[in-house]
Amino acid sequence: MPRESKKSKVARVSEFCRRMDELYGREPSALDWSTPFQLVIAVLLSAQTTDAAVNAVTPELFGRWPDAATMAQAEVGEVADVIHRLGFFRTKSQHCVACAQMIVADYGGEVPRTMGELVRLPGVGRKTANIVLNKAFGIVEGIAVDTHVFRIAQRMGLTTAKTPLEAERDLLAVIPRELWGGVNSEWIRFGRATCTARQAKCDECPCEDLCPKRPVRHGAGQTKRRGRRTTK
Ligand code: SF4
Repeated sequence: MPRESKKSKVARVSEFCRRMDELYGREPSALDWSTPFQLVIAVLLSAQTTDAAVNAVTPELFGRWPDAATMAQAEVGEVADVIHRLGFFRTKSQHCVACAQMIVADYGGEVPRTMGELVRLPGVGRKTANIVLNKAFGIVEGIAVDTHVFRIAQRMGLTTAKTPLEAERDLLAVIPRELWGGVNSEWIRFGRATCTARQAKCDECPCEDLCPKRPVRHGAGQTKRRGRRTTK
């Protein structure tokens, strides 16, 4: 199969982004937050858990410690009690308090607005920083690559990277900058609804014509070729 030119890949992924925007662009954020600090904490808590589970604990969490100044004073054990239904709650509660303490000590209590400063915060990596910059400040410096974005990028033939960080570099190289902002939230919705991890619903995919239809792994060790089913 001939190697796809960069021009063709850019055109293909741009159209994919346009369709994602049409489908999901007007949907509100899945996480509940009202300040940049609360968004940092909500995204930090959302690792390895659902947005709904995070939204179930944040009313009490933000009710008791609404900002960096108050959470910086919190006992880690108390925070852990509030978020104990979330996976990795012990580590996350440590990160919440340590993150708040650094924001108070180093940034005057305000969430910083640069990638370099954000990724210094305990528990905050490039993915969280990208989301915070984009959603809280309207700043687009990159693309937050979570498990859904990573999987879709691989299936769409946009990356062969082994890590989300490398995949982000590949995506930034082919997606026009003005489209970066929508990728995370829109592709996540698409990944949950259609291009799902266990069984991609290619038959009902609105972007099937843009997808190279590479084999998708279904469960451990099995590989199945995607595409429309045929009857014998
Ligand atoms: S055709 Fe299938 S694998 Fe490709 S983007 Fe659509 S759902 Fe995902």
